[in-house]
This record gives sequence, structure tokens and C-alpha cells, in this order.
Amino acid sequence: MSDIRIHPAVDSGVRAGSNSFDGGTLHCHCSDTPVEVTVKAQCAHNHVCGCTKCWKPEGALFSMVAVVPRESLSVTANEDKLEVVDTSAAIQRHACKECGVHMFGRIENTDHPFHGLDFIHTELSDDTGWASPEFAAFVSSIIESGADPDNMDKVRGRLKELCLEPYDCLSPPLMDAIAIHTAKAKGVL
Ligand SMILES: [Zn+2]
Ligand SMILES: [Zn+2]
Repeated sequence: MSDIRIHPAVDSGVRAGSNSFDGGTLHCHCSDTPVEVTVKAQCAHNHVCGCTKCWKPEGALFSMVAVVPRESLSVTANEDKLEVVDTSAAIQRHACKECGVHMFGRIENTDHPFHGLDFIHTELSDDTGWASPEFAAFVSSIIESGADPDNMDKVRGRLKELCLEPYDCLSPPLMDAIAIHTAKAKGVL
């Protein structure tokens, strides 16, 4: 089933992260004056994502995306090359205007369940030790990007083989976090 290319970072097996890792730098794909983002924290909830909004490398069915505390992330070089892809989206994805790589996603709505967390793609870092992907989110959504619906059993099979449990929304802990936030906002919790 390895003819299914999920994402370059996992296609030859998921590498374990390091417990002592506490951050690194990310760079866009520009060879000249790349945008640099520095993160002073280990990432959490790393996963592969099948949605149509996340940035993914050429030829991959999934993106790979994780969260870090907003205050741990800063743009440390060539910030002027960044622009927000879609200002109406809940997650403001800051992308390099030249190479198109998304450097980080930020939620400005303080009522959003994931406010305070920034989304990053750890593959943009040369540092090793980032927490490895744990699951696959929005798997059915790859069809919206043109993936063959008849291949979905093979895709889910390959994800399971890689121990990336496939979900058609987010993982149970993240779905619970959203529901808890909503319940608290409604006053039922
Ligand atoms: Zn760039
Ligand atoms: Zn996504």
C-alpha cells in the first residue's frame, strides 16, 4: 500500500519526536531571503490534515500541521514577505508572497476554541525532535482536492498502517476541547 503518498514526512515511516525538544526555526522555500519563524516550544497535536485550506507540499495528499502556544512564535526574518491568504478565514494563514508556503496560522477571534494556539508545519524546520504526527484529520476532504474517491479504502488503510488513525473531522481530544468550549460558553458546563 506504500504507493499511496500521504506526505513526505511520513511516507517512509513516522519518526518519533524527542521529549527534550523545546523548539526551533522554520523557513519558507525561497532560496533568497527566506522568511524565518522561530518557535520556542515543542509542538502539540501534530497530525496530517486532508482539508483544502492547509498548505501541503507538491504531490502530497495531506498537509502536516501542529499547534504551538501563540506567545512562543515570532517572525525572525523577512516578515515583509508575509501576507494573510484569506482574511475572512477563522485561521489567518500567513504565507510567503513569493513561494506560497504558509509559515503559520493564527486565530484572532478570542471566542474561538483554539484561540491562543498557532498552527505550524514542522517540515519547514531543519531541527529534529518535533513531536511526530499522531492522527489524520479531515480524511474524507481530500476528495474535495481531487483525490480519487475509489482510493479512500487504500488511503485509510495506509494511514492505519502508519498508526495515523483516520478521522473525518478532528481527533476525539480536539473534538472534546471544542465541545467543552461551546458548553462553557452556553453555561451548561
Ligand atoms: Zn518564500
Ligand atoms: Zn487542514
